[in-house]
Amino acid sequence: MVEMDKVIIIGAGPAGVSAALRLRKTNHITPVIYELREEPMTLLGGAIGIPSNGLRLLSRLGLYDAMASRGAQTPSVILHSTKGSIVGEMDMIGWSEKHTGFGYLRIKRTDVMEVLLEAAEKDNISISYGKRLERIEENDNGVTVFFSDGTIDTGDFLLGCDGVHSAVRTKYVDPSCVPEYSGISNIGSLVSTSMLPPPASKLENMNATLTEDGLLMLIPATAAHDSIYWFFSREVPLPDQGDTRDGWEERGKKEVDGMKSTLIGLLGDSHNEWVDMLKEVVSKTEVVKFYPNFKLPVGGRWSRGRVLIIGDAAHAMPPHASQGFSMALEDVFLFSNLLHSKNLTLDSAISIYETRRRRRIEEMLKTAETRGSVRKKTSPRRLRFNEFMLAGGLMIYNTFGLKNLGLGQKLLAYDIEEEKF
Ligand SMILES: Cc1cc2nc3c(=O)[nH]c(=O)nc-3n(C[C@H](O)[C@H](O)[C@H](O)COP(=O)(O)OP(=O)(O)OC[C@H]3O[C@@H](n4cnc5c(N)ncnc54)[C@H](O)[C@@H]3O)c2cc1C
Repeated sequence: MVEMDKVIIIGAGPAGVSAALRLRKTNHITPVIYELREEPMTLLGGAIGIPSNGLRLLSRLGLYDAMASRGAQTPSVILHSTKGSIVGEMDMIGWSEKHTGFGYLRIKRTDVMEVLLEAAEKDNISISYGKRLERIEENDNGVTVFFSDGTIDTGDFLLGCDGVHSAVRTKYVDPSCVPEYSGISNIGSLVSTSMLPPPASKLENMNATLTEDGLLMLIPATAAHDSIYWFFSREVPLPDQGDTRDGWEERGKKEVDGMKSTLIGLLGDSHNEWVDMLKEVVSKTEVVKFYPNFKLPVGGRWSRGRVLIIGDAAHAMPPHASQGFSMALEDVFLFSNLLHSKNLTLDSAISIYETRRRRRIEEMLKTAETRGSVRKKTSPRRLRFNEFMLAGGLMIYNTFGLKNLGLGQKLLAYDIEEEKF
C-alpha cells in the first residue's frame, strides 16, 4: 500500500471533487482542494449525460440517489427528421442496464456540482477558492504548490484536476501538450418547460433531429421534467484570428447572435407538433452559450514525480459520447485502488495506472469521434439518404432483437474495479 497523508488537488470540478471524496473515504488520505474561481460555479452550463459506467461509480461514492433525484432518466434516442416524422428509435440502456444495473441520466451541470459539493462539505473537505497556481516544486519529501496570492501548500502528492487548459499540465507535467480544436462546436441552453407547449414536459428520451448543418438535440434535464436542455452541434471553423481567446469570443458571439435565424431556417416551412415545438424552444431561448469542442492529443505525458493529471486535464475528448465525467470517475477509482493495493510503490502504481487508462481512453475517444460524424455539414440529398439508411437500420435493429447484442453499449459494461494488479 502506498502511504500518503495529504493530497493537494488543483481544480474543484467533477474530477477534483470526486477524487477528494474517494481518497478520503477509501484511502483515508486528507484531500485539500484549490480552485481558480472565486466561488463554487461551473463555467460550462447546460446538462450532461451520465451513462451506466459513470452512474455505477457514482453509486459506489454514495451519490447516485442524490443525482437520480435531480436528473432525468433517458432510456432511448428518438431520431426525428426536419419534416417532423420519426425516423427511428434506439434503445440506449437495455443491454448496459442488464450488465451494470444502471441506465442513463441527464442532469444539469449545476446539479452535479451541488451534489458533489454537498458531499464534500459533509466530509469536511477543504476547498479554497480564488487560487491561481503559479508553480509547482517537489523534493524527496513532498510537492509544494505556489499561488499568485503568495500562499503555498505542501502535500505528499498532487492531482491536477484543472480541466482541458490545465495549469498543472502546462506549467509542470507536459507543457508541450496543447488542446486541439475538433472542428465542431456546440451552442445550447436550458429552457423551462413552463414556457413551452405541453408536449415539452412529457419528453422522456433524448430527441435528435439531423439537419443539413448538424445535430439538434432536445433532452429533459430534470426529474421533475420542468427543464429541457437543447443543443446544436455543428462544424464551426477556427476563428479568423486563430485559436485565441479573443478569436473564440468573436466566433462565439457570431454563432450566438445568428442562432435563432440559423435554426429556424434549417427547420424550414414544415408545421407539425414536433417541428413547431423545436421552433418554439429556439425562439423562447433567452441565454445561449457557445462551446468549441477541444480534445487533447493522445500520448501526452500524464505524470511527473509526485504529480498526476486526471480527467479533462489529461484526456479531454469531444463530448459526443457523453463520457467526460465518467472517464474522470474511472480515473479516480483506478488511482484510489492502486494506492490501496498491497506491494505497489508509487512509481509502479502510476505506471499501471497509465497503461490501463490509456487503453480505455483511446477506445472511448474513438467512439466519441465516430459519433461526431453526424454533426458534419451535408447536402439535402445526402441528409435524406442518411435518414433513409438510419430508418432501415433501426427497423432491423429493433425487429430482429439486435439491441440484445449490446451494440453501442458494450464499452459501458466495463468495471474499472475489476482491474487486477
Ligand atoms: C459542450 C460540452 C458538452 C459536454 N457534455 C458532456 C456529457 O454529456 N457528459 C459528460 O460526462 N461530459 C460532458 N462534457 C465533458 C465534461 O464537461 C468534462 O469531461 C468534465 O467537466 C471534466 O471534469 P474535470 O473536473 O476534469 O474538468 P472541469 O470540469 O473543466 O473542471 C476543472 C476545474 O478546475 C478549475 N481550474 C482550471 N484551472 C485552474 C487552475 N489553474 N487552478 C485551480 N483550478 C483551476 C476550473 O475552474 C474547474 O472548476 C461536455 C463538455 C462540453 C464542452
